Amino acid sequence: MIPFDFDYYRPATVQEAVSLYARLDREGKRPLYWSGGTEIATFARWNRIYTEAVIDLKAVPECRALTVGDREMTFGSALSLSEIHDSGAFPLLGETGGGIADRTSRNKITLGGNVCSRMIYKEAVLPLLLADSDVLVAGASGVRRVPIGRLFDRSMRIGRGEFLVQFVMDAGYRTMPYASVKKRKASAIEYPIVTVAALATGSGIRFAFSGLCDFPFRSAEMERILNRRELPAGERIRQAAARLPAPVIGDIKASAEYRKWVWTITTEDVLKALEPQA
Ligand SMILES: Cc1cc2nc3c(=O)[nH]c(=O)nc-3n(C[C@H](O)[C@H](O)[C@H](O)COP(=O)(O)OP(=O)(O)OC[C@H]3O[C@@H](n4cnc5c(N)ncnc54)[C@H](O)[C@@H]3O)c2cc1C
Repeated sequence: MIPFDFDYYRPATVQEAVSLYARLDREGKRPLYWSGGTEIATFARWNRIYTEAVIDLKAVPECRALTVGDREMTFGSALSLSEIHDSGAFPLLGETGGGIADRTSRNKITLGGNVCSRMIYKEAVLPLLLADSDVLVAGASGVRRVPIGRLFDRSMRIGRGEFLVQFVMDAGYRTMPYASVKKRKASAIEYPIVTVAALATGSGIRFAFSGLCDFPFRSAEMERILNRRELPAGERIRQAAARLPAPVIGDIKASAEYRKWVWTITTEDVLKALEPQA
């Protein structure tokens, strides 16, 4: 049971959502944007979140867009992970999102909700990082378009009252060879020990990781080392491991040492599978 009451709003436009947030914030209602609502509801039950008003983004048409054009493809922030997977529009994104939770939960969990999650995994951000997505962010001064590399640093760095509207990327990425490998401890619906997502572009393999450190990341420095074909794969991975951006997590699911070993063999498998196609 959620131990407090809150009002529910369902704006029909981007502008209405932003204005509502500003008003509810001024009134001290501690508003929250709501996409799938699964995390807000869960954290509310655990008393880890409090709000007196939620603003559901699912009736804002831009947040529900899913288009694939000749040049660009667009994914609205309020699309569910199941919708993205089933569309087949961007297989790397569909498959990575399709590894999160179970089908029933994925019917609710949204792309925007996953990448703005307070949890450490945010696996759906990996393909967005690999495809150099732009993010459309709505706020008081309108909608701005920002490269994800400038917005996502361990978490989405957006301002108070702002929300994610869409992710837009070059349509060419949808047909590039890719890998998305999630290693769990036991059951098929667990959080990852590690997830390795990779994309073979004409100029090398891009890598992004979740589960290894306490935030998902793509590292230019690690990527440069992993693409040094003059070195054996094992040596590249050893050198890349020395450039991890933070300590490897050790927890009840996996010790840091075990997690790093799983990451090493998974990255090596991915490298060997994609290198001939890169
Ligand atoms: C059974 C289960 C298993 C899970 N397993 C995994 C897993 O393996 N890997 C993984 O990565 N995650 C996993 N999750 C976590 C899940 O992906 C996150 O909790 C995610 O936040 C839920 O998405 P939602 O759309 O329901 O978010 P919501 O509850 O709607 O929102 C979550 C947060 O994001 C904010 N937010 C939502 N939309 C926007 C937006 N458009 N712009 C700005 N802020 C926004 C909200 O204000 C809130 O703070 C699991 C969750 C469940 C229930």
